[in-house]
Amino acid sequence: MDNIRTNLSIIHQRMEAACKKANRHAGDVRLLLATKTVPAERIAFALECGERLVGENKVQELKGKYEVLRTYNYESHFIGHLQTNKIKDALKYVTCIESVDRLDLARKLDQRLQFEGRSMDILVQVNSSFEESKFGIDPADAIPFIREVAKYDTLAIRGLMTIGLFSAEEEKVRRCFRLLKNIRQQVIEEDIPNVEMRELSMGMSGDLEIAIEEGATIVRVGTAIFGQRMYPDSYYWNESKR
Ligand SMILES: *Cc1c(COP(=O)(O)O)cnc(C)c1O
Repeated sequence: MDNIRTNLSIIHQRMEAACKKANRHAGDVRLLLATKTVPAERIAFALECGERLVGENKVQELKGKYEVLRTYNYESHFIGHLQTNKIKDALKYVTCIESVDRLDLARKLDQRLQFEGRSMDILVQVNSSFEESKFGIDPADAIPFIREVAKYDTLAIRGLMTIGLFSAEEEKVRRCFRLLKNIRQQVIEEDIPNVEMRELSMGMSGDLEIAIEEGATIVRVGTAIFGQRMYPDSYYWNESKR
């Protein structure tokens, strides 16, 4: 558990250094703990260290960890591929769904939220690396997609999310984040009713500095805090794309 405390402080130092370099306020970028496969007790420890934002990829894990984490004061986001048959459960546990990437999902979220008489914050997930294996709306379709989703008044669009390319070539990684930033700018200029572009959720363990330089407001970090996972990420990212 001591590792978690040390790792968190290293991550916060990295975030602060990146903010300084980019001339941004440290308070403008939030750390989201990406907690897939991490046991609830370890997440609880990170919350005791002062963290306030947690992201899960699977509804089953959200549900399983809830008993342990329910007494903590934190914000819970959904960051994985959301299957439409899991919507009802997902909505019980989170305040934001960062991974809205298809109309079918938006429509079914709206139906359920109407039934419950409430609304939900969402981010639109963009496939900024153009990789077949990654989820997210094609960048070229992002604006028309956002126009359509904005028509559902139960869905409050707060910004964009992307995973980006895993590459040692910094310029290629940066291109993904810059693409997201440019889409945000276009959306702002289109001035679509019911759409806010406050959040850019991008940057992970290996590339959070680049993301912060390109305007990230949320960085999602797992491995650099909790250590290596047992399953490959493809297990979480491509399950229905095989
Ligand atoms: C796992 C995951 C992360 C964190 O990745 P790390 O490399 O472990 O920091 C961020 N975003 C999403 C959507 C994830 O699934």
